[in-house]
Amino acid sequence: MKTRTVPHIVVVGAGIGGLTAACLLLKAGFPVTLLEAHVYPGGSAGTFYHQGYRFDAGATLAGGFGEDAPHARLGQMLGIEWPVQPTNPAWVTLIEGRPIFQWAERERWREEVERNFPESRTFWRMQEWLAERAWQVSARDFPFPPQSLREYGRLAAALRPTTLLAAPFGLLTVGHLLPRRAARRLKVFVDAQLLISAQTTSQFANALYGSAALDLPRRGVHHVRGGIGQLAKTLADWFTHNGGTLHYRQQVDRIEVRTDQRLLVQTRKGLQLEADGVVANLTPWGLAEALAEDAPQRLRQEIQSRPKGWGAFTLYLGLDRAYLKDLPADHFQVIVDASRPLGEGNSVFISLSPEDDPLRAPPGMRAATLSTHTRVEDWWLDNRSAYEEKRQAYTEKMLAAAEIALPGVRQGVRLCLPGTPRTFAFYTRRPLGMVGGFPQTSLLSARGSWTGIPNLWLVGDSVFPGQSTAGVTLGAMQAVRRVMDYYLAQREAGRILLVQRDISHST
Ligand SMILES: Cc1cc2nc3c(=O)[nH]c(=O)nc-3n(C[C@H](O)[C@H](O)[C@H](O)COP(=O)(O)OP(=O)(O)OC[C@H]3O[C@@H](n4cnc5c(N)ncnc54)[C@H](O)[C@@H]3O)c2cc1C
Repeated sequence: MKTRTVPHIVVVGAGIGGLTAACLLLKAGFPVTLLEAHVYPGGSAGTFYHQGYRFDAGATLAGGFGEDAPHARLGQMLGIEWPVQPTNPAWVTLIEGRPIFQWAERERWREEVERNFPESRTFWRMQEWLAERAWQVSARDFPFPPQSLREYGRLAAALRPTTLLAAPFGLLTVGHLLPRRAARRLKVFVDAQLLISAQTTSQFANALYGSAALDLPRRGVHHVRGGIGQLAKTLADWFTHNGGTLHYRQQVDRIEVRTDQRLLVQTRKGLQLEADGVVANLTPWGLAEALAEDAPQRLRQEIQSRPKGWGAFTLYLGLDRAYLKDLPADHFQVIVDASRPLGEGNSVFISLSPEDDPLRAPPGMRAATLSTHTRVEDWWLDNRSAYEEKRQAYTEKMLAAAEIALPGVRQGVRLCLPGTPRTFAFYTRRPLGMVGGFPQTSLLSARGSWTGIPNLWLVGDSVFPGQSTAGVTLGAMQAVRRVMDYYLAQREAGRILLVQRDISHST
């Protein structure tokens, strides 16, 4: 590689992962160009405008604004005030119509547990203890999974005696902690929480990760004023105001590895950028597509061996407020039939725009996003009418589930837009419309930001700790740390002359 003063970094994708990386790298003194395929930022955590409504496309609730939590830390680093307000209860889970309130206050939550699941006190005590250890460690500089000797050293330095006590639970699943004869309602409740936060259920979810995930409502859940897309918009504004170059409508089709190790990034519209390093806010499948014949063998093997991830079926509803009276919360999780598997319309997350947010809906209305997990493969049908029938059937299932949380809501529907994995594939460019990253089953198989190419890093929800705006932020911070390590090593080896600021202290 030639000696050059400051390496140019191209970031592909302006989801939360790409934006976080782009902002931190810019702050560290790198010239950064960010290429986004769509016309606005945010991807799965974006907000789109339609007929006077601002609908959250996927994510609706954001955690991670508490002390030392990822969004709070990122906000401090960049000097950003996030447009958020806490919401409590975070959501209400309805299992066959009976509610469980996800209170933010710990004591209140313990009373709720006592009322609903008195047989499971020990489980919840253990879950709290493990969650505390997991959250403490995530607030430190915790490179996971470690990818180099230096990172093993950093990981060791981040561990404390209490963390080590919790470490053996990293080999168990949440199912191991549940009472042997757990009541069906308890198991379904825990499974439903894990499915939305760890992408898998108690039988498979790692005990440490799952415990932390079950604690999310106690760690502070927030609404974002104007829709969750304002998180991405805030980052995109910071990026451009501070000298970053951001191009929308530029879908990257090819990342070519050149013989001088630089990367050539090419977009569908013919833009070509030479980069010293690339950060890709893509899934491994998306990255392999872009690398084509340059995809390293390990990446090829990964995409062949990993089972396909989840997709989402979504329904965006414009609702007349007159039909939404006296609701106990803005967010609901409905399990229609506790004896049937979750997902596929049997478990549905429903989010209403806050009543006091005039930016989200025309006067007298509220914007709602409903989502359910669905298998992606089933939506790529060649037969158009079979696809449309399936979409209609899921729309009906979602409306029936909504009726449980919001009785009479059907009469208040003024706008109804369904979204399938094909819709997600189109708008977020995620292959097959796979969303939410990988199920968090084993810490030993956690995926880092490696790509097999030394100056190319992956960010986004495929990278540990995986899905959620907070998780993706944390993963991107770790990836940026690796970019820094790489260029510091290059500087030490005399391959680059200088990086403008002291990049080692930026994350
Ligand atoms: C239905 C649903 C509900 C969810 N609910 C919540 C929730 O309530 N709370 C929460 O915290 N999380 C939630 N999540 C998860 C959360 O939205 C995601 O984990 C997170 O937003 C993913 O961020 P990402 O950085 O991986 O980027 P993505 O959101 O995948 O964004 C990637 C970006 O890159 C762009 N891009 C892709 N390919 C290319 C290319 N080739 N060239 C240029 N640009 C490209 C895309 O257009 C997109 O803007 C939910 C997800 C879904 C689908």
